[in-house]
Formats: sequence, C-alpha cells, structure tokens
Amino acid sequence: MIENFDRLHGLPDGFFDISCTNIRTLFPNPTLIQLAGKGSDFLFISILLHGNEYTGLKVMQKILAEYAQDLPRSILLFIGNVRAAEANRRYLPDQVDYNRCWPGTELEPSATSQMMQRVVEIAHGLPLFAAIDIHNNTGKNPHYACITDPNMKNQNLAARFNRVGMVFNHRGVSTMAFDGICPAITLECGLPGDPQGIEHACRFVEGMLSLDELPQNQPTRHALHLVESHLTLNIPDDVSFAFDPAADADLRFENDFEDRNFTLFDPHQVFGYTRVERPISITDTDGHDVTDEILRVEAGKIYLNNTLMPAMITRDRLVIRQDCLCHLLQDYLHHEAEL
Ligand SMILES: [Zn+2]
Repeated sequence: MIENFDRLHGLPDGFFDISCTNIRTLFPNPTLIQLAGKGSDFLFISILLHGNEYTGLKVMQKILAEYAQDLPRSILLFIGNVRAAEANRRYLPDQVDYNRCWPGTELEPSATSQMMQRVVEIAHGLPLFAAIDIHNNTGKNPHYACITDPNMKNQNLAARFNRVGMVFNHRGVSTMAFDGICPAITLECGLPGDPQGIEHACRFVEGMLSLDELPQNQPTRHALHLVESHLTLNIPDDVSFAFDPAADADLRFENDFEDRNFTLFDPHQVFGYTRVERPISITDTDGHDVTDEILRVEAGKIYLNNTLMPAMITRDRLVIRQDCLCHLLQDYLHHEAEL
C-alpha cells in the first residue's frame, strides 16, 4: 500500500489564493508539481511536511506569482501533509511524521514512507540542482539552515541562508534522502507565517533559481558557524512540567527558558528544577538513552555535565509531547577535533 499522491505539470488555478485551511479544495492529497523553467536542472522544494508550518506555502505563492511565467530554473514542488495542514497540526494522530519517513528512516514501513520513496525516485530521475525543505519552529529561534551531510557545497548552501547552520542527523528526514545526489538543506524560518521568515526564505529561493554553481571551498567561520544537533531532550509522559519555577509540577524551567535558544549553558548554570528522579530523557542520534552522561540532578536542580547550547526550545505542550522539548547543540568543528 502506498499513500495516494497526485502529480501535476503546472500550477492549478487558484494556487495563489489558497491557505492551509482550504488547501484540500485544491490539493486533496499530497501533490508533486513539476514546473518547467529555462534551465533544465531542477530545484526540489518541499513544503508542509509538517502541516502547521505554513511559511513554505506563502514562500512558494510569492515566488511563483513573480516567476511562474518565466522560471529561470525548473522546480519540482512537493506539497506534503495537506490533511494536517488543514487541521493546523504537525501531523494527525493516525499519521506518521512526514519528515521522519523518507528513505533511510528507522520507522516501520508505511504507506507514507512508500510515497516518500516514490517521490524521491521521481526526483532522483531528474537533473537536480539542489533540494530545499522549508520548515518553521514553534519557539523563538534565529532563522537557520540544517544539513545532514556537512560537505562543502552543503556548507556553502547553509551559509547563503544564515551565519549559523546546523548539522543534524535524524533518520528519515527529507534532506538526508538527497545526500549524495545534490546539495540539500532544511530551512528553519522562525514561527509559522512570520513575515520576516517568509521574506528571508523567498530571497534564498530566489537566489537559488538563478545561481550558477555553489562554491566548493570551506566557508570562513565568519560566514558560517556550524553547530551539531546530536541530542534530543524529551519529557517522559508521566512527568508534569511548567515554565515557572514556583509551579506545582515535577519539572520546572525558568519563565524565559525559550529565550535561551542558541545560548550556552555551562555545567554550573541551573538548567531546570525537579522533584522526581528522572524528569528528562535524552537520546542521541542513534536513539540511545544518554541521559545520565549528559545531565545530573543535585538537590532538586538539573545541571548539564558539559557546556551545550539548547535549540528549538518550545513551550507548546502538544509539540513537546509529539516531538521534543528541545535539542542540545555543540560546535561541529570542535566536536570533530575531539574525536
Ligand atoms: Zn518542521
């Protein structure tokens, strides 16, 4: 069984007027749209892999309103989780996460993973210039790009978006499915619908429509500060939590915890407060539980054992339960030097 998806060779009427709430009047299923441009090579662009992250839709509406009649480069646009988009959810309870089930996934095979496999086969059959996956965060974060393969082209691609870039390694993300095929990047464009995030991603995609070639040289540290996301921090389902140190909850954080995104926590700074023994579970990219290596609890206070940088902290309770509270980053080059 493969999840049903539609293929189009051109934009349907009404594309520029739809929003997430009525997206299924135009796209009842996930849809792959092939748009011919002057250049024969393609930009693969995926949007709405997470249904509530609608910046990508706004970006493509803006870009195509301007360029659809005269595209400098061909585009293969994948519109992902339209059912979740309609419901303003990351994904629905009966679905898998659309950005964890691409080739390389560790999830059980599903109709959705088969659809992603097919989409990738179609894309890989075309001359690809780059693959761009557009997302949003739920917390306060700078805009940044994520790459799964830190080769020089990908690093230069990331540097075109912002001076901070992240190497991440979650199995089954769309970006990883293009590694070894073409430069590939995930754009994290701040909160859904944030006008600055839309503008920033539009400028990036616009640049990619006409760029001749990505440089192969190492970007300077000034051009790109590359960090690595290798730890995911979850709150166990039976642990209550609050963003208020005085609250009656098993696990508590400071009110402004979200402002700590992309700032360093050293081993002597209080990360959080707890009244239970195991308030947090931390997994590495292989899914191993590394909680005891990473943090310690002393007299109801949680500390990290090494200096690390949280990112993608969210206060959204559903996202925390469905995805995670945050990731912990470290400097990518620093990490390599340690090996
Ligand atoms: Zn996302």
